[in-house]
Amino acid sequence: MDINKVFATIHAGLPAKNTGKVADYIPELGKVDPDKFGVQATTVDGREYAFGEAKEPFSIQSIAKVFTLTMAYQRLNKELWKRVGVEPSGTPFNSLIQLEADQGIPRNPMINAGALVVCDVLLDYLKDPKAELLSFVRSLSSDKSINYNKAVAQSELDNASRNRALLEYMRSFGNIHNESDDILDFYCHLCALEMCCGQLSRSFLFLANQGIAPLSGERIVSSSMTKRLNAIMQLCGFYDEAGEFSFRVGLPGKSGVGGGIVALLPGDYCITVWSPPLNYKGNSHHGMAFLEQFTTEVGESIF
Ligand code: GLU
Repeated sequence: MDINKVFATIHAGLPAKNTGKVADYIPELGKVDPDKFGVQATTVDGREYAFGEAKEPFSIQSIAKVFTLTMAYQRLNKELWKRVGVEPSGTPFNSLIQLEADQGIPRNPMINAGALVVCDVLLDYLKDPKAELLSFVRSLSSDKSINYNKAVAQSELDNASRNRALLEYMRSFGNIHNESDDILDFYCHLCALEMCCGQLSRSFLFLANQGIAPLSGERIVSSSMTKRLNAIMQLCGFYDEAGEFSFRVGLPGKSGVGGGIVALLPGDYCITVWSPPLNYKGNSHHGMAFLEQFTTEVGESIF
């Protein structure tokens, strides 16, 4: 099958008018051109297929939660699940509601509360968390040019009241140990990582390859841990639209409010789509439509 042609055909079939809306609750995110579109698929045996602005870096936002989750899981192994659950939340990414009933243990590591706990865990283990995260991501994608967007990180920090509230609430249950300012600084930088579709599709390949990064041959996590990370993405990777994404696309993945979506077919490939306007659940409107068409055209999904 000619994947480049499939990409072009699906893109041409997307509705000309995008009914999604670019995220602007973090002012810096609202500055992106809504018409940007890029996609890249990278296979575990090293083939790459790209279309549109696949080399243009964008704010990966919550997609980065998978990187910190992997780093914390490497260090704590199953002890991590005492601090954060693995159940889909069915609530928006920044919701406080379930934390009261769940005694300060977030439902999963993909919602903000869970990602903040993961950051808290990493602060206990890493001397320089921001530098170590950057070097982890650079090594996964074999690309030293990846960096934080300082303006986005600052904009996140200036608008972090909700995340601070999540931290303090969880602290009241004993599930946060470090200073909120330090956790927020790390978390807001995490969200402000900038990567392009190509870099993202390469960096997630270890999750399609039983835990081994195909580019370096390095084992990142065990195959059992890979299964669990993919399961979390499948059930929790799309805010309160994880069921809809599974139903339409049928792959584990993670989205971010920058309009990026990463998805992967274990044993085969990782694909990243970027289109900034979001649907009302916070997932890229055209990104979801594109991936639904893609798995339908190629006739493969995990199901
Ligand atoms: N930066 C966001 C926030 O915590 C999270 C982004 C996302 O869900 O993609 O407000």
